[in-house]
Amino acid sequence: MIGAGVSGMSAACALADAGFRVQLVEQRGYLGGRASSYLHPGVNEVIDNCQHVLFGCCTNLVGFYRRIGVADRIHWTREMTMIEPGGRRSALGPFRLGPFTLPAPLHSALSFLNASAFTLADKLALARAMRAMMQPAALIDTRESLGDWLRRHKQTEGAINRFWRLVIASALNAEIDAISVSYAAKVIRELFLNSVEAGSMGMSTVPLSELYAGVPRFLAERGGSVHLNTHVEGATWNEASAQWLICTRTGELVSDFVILALPFEAMQKLLPHLPAEADADKLARQIERHEHWPICSIHLWFDREITELEHAVLLDREIHWMYNQSKLQGRGGNYIELVVSATRSFAALPRETAIQQALRELAEFFPRVKEARLLKVALIKEMHATFGVSPGIDAARPTAVSSWPNLFLAGDWVQTGWPSTMESAARSGHLAAEALGLRAENPLRCFEPDLQPQGMMRLFR
Ligand SMILES: Cc1cc2nc3c(=O)[nH]c(=O)nc-3n(C[C@H](O)[C@H](O)[C@H](O)COP(=O)(O)OP(=O)(O)OC[C@H]3O[C@@H](n4cnc5c(N)ncnc54)[C@H](O)[C@@H]3O)c2cc1C
Repeated sequence: MIGAGVSGMSAACALADAGFRVQLVEQRGYLGGRASSYLHPGVNEVIDNCQHVLFGCCTNLVGFYRRIGVADRIHWTREMTMIEPGGRRSALGPFRLGPFTLPAPLHSALSFLNASAFTLADKLALARAMRAMMQPAALIDTRESLGDWLRRHKQTEGAINRFWRLVIASALNAEIDAISVSYAAKVIRELFLNSVEAGSMGMSTVPLSELYAGVPRFLAERGGSVHLNTHVEGATWNEASAQWLICTRTGELVSDFVILALPFEAMQKLLPHLPAEADADKLARQIERHEHWPICSIHLWFDREITELEHAVLLDREIHWMYNQSKLQGRGGNYIELVVSATRSFAALPRETAIQQALRELAEFFPRVKEARLLKVALIKEMHATFGVSPGIDAARPTAVSSWPNLFLAGDWVQTGWPSTMESAARSGHLAAEALGLRAENPLRCFEPDLQPQGMMRLFR
């Protein structure tokens, strides 16, 4: 297994559970890839490279967490608080009538109607759009951009800026004109329409790498091993022994099967160092169609509490999401993390300018920021955070089975039907593990099915 991100770890653990002796090879000194934590030298704190959120519909990610025994470290919530500059709040979440939650999709429709962040015209526009997105996924045109679709469905400026741009485009981490409407519809259905459970939001209560701390032991107990600080430079196939020889900067490894669980740019670098194969050109062309989008996070420690909220969606400004890490991770201090998604202009700002802008904006939502003293701050810019799900991108997402013998592909960007997320990574890992099991004549079942839509949504599969 090459690459110890979520895709590589989920495949490795599933295969180890099925009796395979897995060698997990990772170039960095720690596990987790793009979803990890580390000791930041500037602030002397262990921080996540960015807040990572999951949802109830992330069945394969939860399956991976369950397998390694950390599913109980996820804190689940059903409500999202939207805040306008000035402080007015609206709650989005399952609407309750006394003790009863309304059946899907009414559970969230009524909370939109109740939200003061939207005008009546915005609400009517959103209701029309949600109704249109309820149709079965197969009927939605994967080649149309979300921007064109929103214009065609006469969305108001308020609905576009406060919902589509902020909640949906930022979840997909791209601008609305660079997103396929089919992916936006998927997010809408899973987060707001299918069921209360699918839309529940989960956040780790420990730094991300702590979640995976048990993986090396999990593999070792099943005869496997983890090789950190091991950069793979190429691989050759030995026809006589029917084995792969993996060349790393620190030596060679031999294996009957290989899963490359890499991001697309690492796959691109490795391609010229794999055996020449007819399909390699096709894969190279597919990779060329992918592009990165950045995510920035600003980690702030104040001398006092600035809000009692655990998290919030911040409207009409560059900063999009607030996570109160002191509450979420039960850490001392008053540690607030802000996330700015899909904004190349913010990512291009110099460090001091970006921090000052974030602080100014934060004070518009939480006035206590003005009296608080900032004790320390870290700005993390992940320029290669995610791949974009532009119209037609599915044709550029390869399947787990490759044309090389006994070699499989994983990684969030392979064909999973999901955008660039930990769930897509876990799905790709499970798909690759199942494909490998079949080839090895030791079939395993690790792919977790989707949650079933509830209420009236059962009619719109
Ligand atoms: C800032 C940020 C915020 C995000 N927020 C969210 C979120 O809220 N929710 C969500 O679901 N997702 C989020 N994501 C996306 C999510 O992190 C990724 O989709 C997921 O982690 C990808 O996992 P992966 O295993 O496919 O790839 P990676 O995590 O990139 O793992 C690939 C691994 O391969 C290793 N590798 C590369 N080349 C080699 C080589 N030659 N030899 C050996 N090892 C190699 C890398 O070091 C890496 O560890 C976010 C990502 C970022 C960066």
